[in-house]
Amino acid sequence: MKTIGLIGGMSWESTVTYYQIINETVKDELGGLHSAKCILYSVDFQEIEQCQAEGDWEKSARILSFAAQSLEKAGADFIVICTNTMHKVAPQIQSQVHIPILHIAEMTAMALKQQGVTTVGLLGTRYTMQQDFYKQVLLDNGIQVLIPSPEDMELVNRVIYDELCLGSILAPSKAAYLQIIQDLVAQGAQGIILGCTEIGLLIGQEDTDTPIFDTTKIHARQAALLSIQ
Ligand code: GLU
Repeated sequence: MKTIGLIGGMSWESTVTYYQIINETVKDELGGLHSAKCILYSVDFQEIEQCQAEGDWEKSARILSFAAQSLEKAGADFIVICTNTMHKVAPQIQSQVHIPILHIAEMTAMALKQQGVTTVGLLGTRYTMQQDFYKQVLLDNGIQVLIPSPEDMELVNRVIYDELCLGSILAPSKAAYLQIIQDLVAQGAQGIILGCTEIGLLIGQEDTDTPIFDTTKIHARQAALLSIQ
């Protein structure tokens, strides 16, 4: 079995979900008392969020590269960065280690292609929705990406940082997200990417008929499967 190196804490609320899904998947696949071999390097999210807000991506890349190097030294066979947003600096992190990073957007693109989705709505932080680092991976895989209106993006982003990353799961926010999903579907989205690892704490497939692609579930499951290959 390979050892998974998790860079977590962004936020820790979603890292909990990663740990659970990875272990459940290994148990389902191997049975018995099997569980995942993994090492977690959990960062202080306040420090990372400050880098984001100040646009100091180089500093955040240095912090996460140190985490990745520590995981490599500790025996990890591959790296899982437990956030969509910080994949913005995935290339810088990859250049500092010899083990591969299992890229969250690539795993998501694979899941979309398997379901035949060619146009998708993307919910995430404003960095993920507005910038190219994430959407480009989807476009490179032939998938068109729709994002919410500027006001809706603001709401989606605010709920992530002010509520979900602090463990607050609120009904009005859930209703607002579901309305935004409906609007994206009306514009032609065949499915919706929960492109932030905390959104699955707020909404799930049970809340809508639209196919939901929860990046936490997709990423964690693929990490587990790769570890037992
Ligand atoms: N976990 C979130 C994501 O998947 C947001 C937190 C962060 O900025 O890393 O993008």
